[in-house]
Amino acid sequence: MCIFCKILNKEIPSTQVYEDDLFVVIMDIFPISRGHMLIVPKEHCENIFDLPEHIAKNIYPLAKKLSICVSKALGTDGINILQNNGEIAGQEVFHFHLHIIPRYKDEDIQISKPTRLKLEASEIEEIAQKIKNVI
Ligand code: 5GP
Ligand code: ZN
Repeated sequence: MCIFCKILNKEIPSTQVYEDDLFVVIMDIFPISRGHMLIVPKEHCENIFDLPEHIAKNIYPLAKKLSICVSKALGTDGINILQNNGEIAGQEVFHFHLHIIPRYKDEDIQISKPTRLKLEASEIEEIAQKIKNVI
C-alpha cells in the first residue's frame, strides 16, 4: 500500500485540514513554504494518466477554495499550484496529489526557475501539429 493510502487509512499520522467524499487535504510534512498543503484523492490513482474523470472535475474547485482560505488565514502574496507526474517530472509519491504552495514576498524560495529551449517557430508548429493529430 502506498504512503498516502496509509495516511488515508490512518496507519500513518498526518495533519489534516479538510475532508469531503473525494479528497483529504493534509499539510506537507516537508513544506516548501508556510501553509504548503496537499490535496489527496481518497481513491488511489498514480498520476494524471490514470486520474478518474470525477476526481479531475472536482479537484480545481477545491484548489480554488483552499487558495482563498490560505490567503485569508496566512496573508499569502501568491500561490503556486504544482502537480508532478512521473519520476522525471519530480514525482516522489505515486498517489496523485496537487500541491498548494503559498508564496510570501519576504520568503526567498525557489521552486520554478526553468531553463528554456531555443526552438524555431516552425519547430513549435511541428510539435503542435503532432499533438493536434492525436487529440
Ligand atoms: P511529489 O514530489 O510526489 O509531487 O510530492 C510528494 C510530497 O509529499 C513532498 O512534498 C513530500 O514532502 C510529501 N510527503 C512525503 N511523505 C509524506 C508524509 O508521510 N506525510 C506528508 N504529510 N507529506 C509527505
Ligand atoms: Zn495510494
